[in-house]
Amino acid sequence: MNKQNIDWANLGFAYMPTGERFVANYKDGKWDDGVMTADANIVMNECAGVLQYAQTCFEGMKAYTTEDGRIVVFRPDLNVQRMEDSCKRLEMPVFPKDKFIDAICRVVKENEDFVPPYGTGATLYIRPYMFGSGPVIGVKPSDEYQFRIFTIPVGPYFKGGAKPITIKVSDFDRAAPHGTGNIKAGLNYAMSLHAIVTAHEEGFDENMYLDAATRTKVEETGGANFLFITKDNKVITPKSNSILPSITRRSLMYVAEHYLGLETEQREVYFDEVKDFAECGLCGTAAVIAPVVKINELGREICFPSGMDEMGPFTKMLYDTLTGIQMGRIEAPEGWIKEIK
Ligand SMILES: *Cc1c(COP(=O)(O)O)cnc(C)c1O
Repeated sequence: MNKQNIDWANLGFAYMPTGERFVANYKDGKWDDGVMTADANIVMNECAGVLQYAQTCFEGMKAYTTEDGRIVVFRPDLNVQRMEDSCKRLEMPVFPKDKFIDAICRVVKENEDFVPPYGTGATLYIRPYMFGSGPVIGVKPSDEYQFRIFTIPVGPYFKGGAKPITIKVSDFDRAAPHGTGNIKAGLNYAMSLHAIVTAHEEGFDENMYLDAATRTKVEETGGANFLFITKDNKVITPKSNSILPSITRRSLMYVAEHYLGLETEQREVYFDEVKDFAECGLCGTAAVIAPVVKINELGREICFPSGMDEMGPFTKMLYDTLTGIQMGRIEAPEGWIKEIK
């Protein structure tokens, strides 16, 4: 195996076609076995369910090279479970769990030359997704689906140190109380584009979405969950049925409690409380945890005392412990690490 000639440490988060991807098709009520293909393009009917009514969902996870040179994937079983939840909510067929895990392993293995080496900070991002490929013109579920997994090498999120994030409280809502905010459906991201482009134009990195019903409680950003540290060192994360259950956030809460001995709490968090927290972080596969320095609400600013130039001390401990587990430097809880090679 020869690694690709890539400047790993300077990669961003951008698509590039890699060697092989997995493709399976659902037709006549069943999935075929699936194949690996070098073809990065898809040909489908003009009236496919995904094109007309956005019947599609996805997942995102990473493969890492550990300190001792193994290639591992972090908690893929949780991604598989979450995609099952997404599929059921969108009336899409579930891709069987064991075959899903096998396909993840296969795609990573066959793209081993694209898995960034240990120490570069880069990782292999894995993108499973499913879409309605059969034609529908009346609004109903498609009869045919395609399930795919491709991989891309992605650079370290923090190039040259942590970059603290500034956020605005969005004028838009992300998810309705009994809507689709808790699944990884493509439609949630299409409708967030105007909000994020607007935030960027105004000079902010991200949006904080409040609960749509009362606009008093913190939900999440367009692609990451919130963690807060109180002044007495408690780790708090918002609870809501319209938040996407981040695997990174769930893992960090576990790490906080079982590795760092901190008190943790998942509960409703009112926006009015946010000014009293000591640290604020955004959790997701991309960054693990990214420190938030400032939150702007209608021109009023909340600044966090730590995290102006670097991560606050608790954010950093959480980051170091979870990345240590992912990179094989710290022993992982049972079942968290799926060894590929
Ligand atoms: C994917 C995603 C996250 C992060 O989830 P992870 O499993 O930690 O990567 C958080 N919020 C939203 C809206 C997401 O789409």
